[in-house]
Amino acid sequence: MPSRKFADGEVVRGRWPGSSLYYEVEVLSHDSNSQLYSVKYKDGTELELKESDIKPLTSFRQRKSGSTSSSPSRRRGSRSRSRSRSPGRPPKGSRPSPSVSGSHQADIKEAKKEARKEVLEVKLTPLVLKPFGNSINRYNGEPEHIERNDIPHKNTQVVEGTPLTDGRRLKYRLNGFYAFILTSVLVGASFFWDVELYYVYSHFLQCALAATVFSVVLSVYLYARALKAPRNELSPASSGNAVYDFFIGRELNPRIGTFDLKYFCELRPGLIGWVVINLVMLLAEMKLQGRTVPSLAMVLVNSFQLLYVVDALWNEEALLTTMDIIHDGFGFMLAFGDLVWVPFIYSFQAFYLVGHPTELSWPMASLIIALKLCGFVIFRCANSQKNAFRKNPTDPKLAHLKTIHTATGKNLLVSGWWGFVRHPNYLGDLIMALAWSLPCGFNHILPYFYVIYFTILLVHREARDERHCRKKYGLAWEKYCQRVPYRIFPYIY
Ligand code: NDP
Repeated sequence: MPSRKFADGEVVRGRWPGSSLYYEVEVLSHDSNSQLYSVKYKDGTELELKESDIKPLTSFRQRKSGSTSSSPSRRRGSRSRSRSRSPGRPPKGSRPSPSVSGSHQADIKEAKKEARKEVLEVKLTPLVLKPFGNSINRYNGEPEHIERNDIPHKNTQVVEGTPLTDGRRLKYRLNGFYAFILTSVLVGASFFWDVELYYVYSHFLQCALAATVFSVVLSVYLYARALKAPRNELSPASSGNAVYDFFIGRELNPRIGTFDLKYFCELRPGLIGWVVINLVMLLAEMKLQGRTVPSLAMVLVNSFQLLYVVDALWNEEALLTTMDIIHDGFGFMLAFGDLVWVPFIYSFQAFYLVGHPTELSWPMASLIIALKLCGFVIFRCANSQKNAFRKNPTDPKLAHLKTIHTATGKNLLVSGWWGFVRHPNYLGDLIMALAWSLPCGFNHILPYFYVIYFTILLVHREARDERHCRKKYGLAWEKYCQRVPYRIFPYIY
């Protein structure tokens, strides 16, 4: 018979789902099949918790002020300053207590009915003991001096990222678009001074190899420094396995002073480098094919990809809520991806057109432009809708959208773009990817490499995100999947 650690009636601390907060709870019962404890919080909320989410009272030191929270609601009442949101707490006005809304209680009942198959399983933040005055204070993930918010705050050019597991929020300087302008000025100056940009085309492989070597050296440096990083700075994706951690990245936000290595590499060298390489290809096409103007196909490929990059840099803040920033560490995967894969592989279509003259009719070009714009509208609107919702869930402009409540306090959109398929932004991205390949005609597979690879990447990425969301949101995610059954392609997948 499997053993249980806590007895019925015992008063312990239970972690609030989706947060690192522990509250006083009473153990009501234990299910030996699911290994879940039914617990009751002081405000009457009943939830099921795993044993690892329960701690004996003795494992917590009392706050010096004696103001340990005994229930989610009491704790909230004890704070004089309002927090805009915290895990386990809905957006203001959307539910009365931080605990359980009607719909959530229904979820719990549903779960019980389903033989307790599912549990609200979220990442357990380790307890951090840190000095506070002359005493040791239990760090509960909510520092008193920080106004918490799950979304970045715009403050001219410096914004804060999403809260880390220890409650800190890193600051990021939004200057990607300026970096692009500066690069454009430098490229313009190189034209003026007759710098031979063709060199990049004639030494394409050498440049790619140099970037690869650099990314490997950078990854070794990142792994070595991560070995000394404190536990709370490791990425949620890291596993402890050296090979895997070297690949996925052990440290979440490696920084030298305030310079964030991952954030810098994500958009600047890779994306800007990509459009510079595309421009080099355009010049090489004119030179090698003896053209006075570039081909229509080359103009389309350059313009489409330029639009993609400028859009990403213009909406740079959106990067802060992507998986790359909040989940994956900075290791070989992102170093190689950002510095080699994006600039040298994503420019394959332009590279192909240099050596394969391709004529495109205007009617065909118009259709491709329409496809590109269609993909762009889906991509941009879906990403902006989610970002706006995460930024301010009570935004009146989003009031018409339907949402599902989750135990973490964050809601999920179930109408609008996110009610169409579960990853409308991926759908838009893939339509655009196809539009980048079509100008190159159908004589070769090379221009289609990107769209094939990207489909595989996004299908895999979607599955990864799905796993995280299922863990994070439990039953609410199940409900979302029932309401929005298709992942990326409507009626197909
Ligand atoms: P998303 O921007 O789609 O973010 C996924 C997160 O969104 C989930 O973890 C969840 O996080 C939140 N979410 C999911 N469903 C909902 C919902 N219904 N309502 C509200 N929030 C929801 O993922 P990525 O970071 O992978 O992609 C960002 C963009 O970058 C995409 O447009 C993608 O196409 C693009 N991309 C481009 C690549 C390239 O090489 N060109 C590579 C990878 C991505 P939470 O609930 O915690 O907020």
